[in-house]
Amino acid sequence: MAKYIFITGGVVSSLGKGVAAASCGALLQSRGYSVHARKFDPYLNIDPGTMSPFQHGEVYVTDDGFETDLDLGYYERFLGIKLSRNDSVSGGRIYWDVLNAERRGDYLGATVQMIPHVSNKIKEYINAPTDTDFVVYEIGGTVGDIEGKIFLESIRQFANDVGRKNVMFVHLTLAPYLEKSGELKTKPTQMSVRELLENGIQADMLIVRSPRMLTVDERAKIGMFCNLPAKNVISGIDVDNIYEIPLAYDAQHVFDIIAQHFDLPCAAGNTDKFQKIKHYLNADLPEVNIGIVGKYFDVPDAYKSLNEALFHAGMQNNVHVKLKKINAETFSADDAVGLDGILVPGGFGTRGVAGKIAAAGYARENRVPYMGICLGMQIAVIEFARNVLGIEDANSTEFSKNCTPVINIMADHDSADMGGTLRLGAYPCVITPGTLAEKVYGSNYISERHRHRYEMDISLEKEFAKHGMIISGRSPDGRLPEIVEIKDHPFFIAGQFHPEFQSSPYSGHPLFNAFIAAAIKYRG
Ligand code: GLN
Repeated sequence: MAKYIFITGGVVSSLGKGVAAASCGALLQSRGYSVHARKFDPYLNIDPGTMSPFQHGEVYVTDDGFETDLDLGYYERFLGIKLSRNDSVSGGRIYWDVLNAERRGDYLGATVQMIPHVSNKIKEYINAPTDTDFVVYEIGGTVGDIEGKIFLESIRQFANDVGRKNVMFVHLTLAPYLEKSGELKTKPTQMSVRELLENGIQADMLIVRSPRMLTVDERAKIGMFCNLPAKNVISGIDVDNIYEIPLAYDAQHVFDIIAQHFDLPCAAGNTDKFQKIKHYLNADLPEVNIGIVGKYFDVPDAYKSLNEALFHAGMQNNVHVKLKKINAETFSADDAVGLDGILVPGGFGTRGVAGKIAAAGYARENRVPYMGICLGMQIAVIEFARNVLGIEDANSTEFSKNCTPVINIMADHDSADMGGTLRLGAYPCVITPGTLAEKVYGSNYISERHRHRYEMDISLEKEFAKHGMIISGRSPDGRLPEIVEIKDHPFFIAGQFHPEFQSSPYSGHPLFNAFIAAAIKYRG
């Protein structure tokens, strides 16, 4: 049977439970154990697909086309695993399941209650089969949230069902530092652990976020008040880069604490891949400047996977990638000065489209490396149609109803309603021999993840090709353009998909790696 590690958070939100969970998983992997990761989000949305990036940050997409919390991106990246729809489950989805079962009469006339019906449904998800040694399970939100109560109750029951020895509770808290008195305060942590205990859950390990390492005395004090050995109180010290966290945990013997809890042999781990990242971070390397022309910059997490992918590609190319966030709504050529590459990321809605078109045009005319992602491909196609083919009113029907539509909704996914109509998840793409795309991927058959509603109109292919923009990747049935590129340009390529969802910190992603390589070349 798999062993389960549940990660909860207290005191404040945004402590980085996802990265903490991924880091614990990485340490287990470093000792040869296989790890699966999952997350519960107690909120009532069925999934985060309809949530604004301004509120919720990035919506991550799995191979099987599920729109998930961005923490799943951390799990996939850190652990090199592929997750699916049952690995990201919201409160809304649980209630939806329960209420549908009630309507079907599945409960045979019983009064439907939080316990056992909702808690059993949650435990069904926890019990979903896995062939790994461990499942690391993050519970979203903060201890004390009303939505979260039933999840805490369910993991309490689960531990009782499968035996306390098979379950470990890790709690992430905060120890604020009071400048005036020069003290690190432990009371919020004590209260958060007490609140957890009120739900019947005794924390087995605490990770206490703090600006400096906890002292021996502080750990002893927390251990005493919180009913656990001082050695199980870890400092969740602030670091510059998330990939340093597994190393910070390893240095504090987090694996040994886990091993002791589960009666596993202590073992030294191989953390070379994280050491390598740390070494890269501190290395004195040349820089390249990449401009991202987007509009969700006010939320630090809105372009999470994209930022990661560019970071990974920098590592693969031995340069430091400097990102310049360019507000699409105010883009002008001045913004492009000093850039070695221009990237137009995914996006929805008309706001900022004009600036993105101008940015793609700038890259095309000035031979600056360009990479377009999803909307960034549609933008490149519109720009080319307008300024090279001379179709002045070329547009996407997402932005204008009275236009020559070069980007349109396909007849077989033609509802304009939000939710349920997007092309989501992994789709195969066939790459044309002799193209930049083939050189980049080193393959003629790839799979990339999608999240969009509109497509380039393939009937325009010949007209575009005549003027130098070719479709170099398409769906196997030939109906959907997936990659476009400009032939007589050093590097101008755009995909209808989101390659950032498959970038790995250990190998990057072919498209991003090639884009950064082109930027280095452009810089000269
Ligand atoms: N808004 C565009 C569409 O729906 C692009 C979406 C995206 O960039 N993810 O097709």
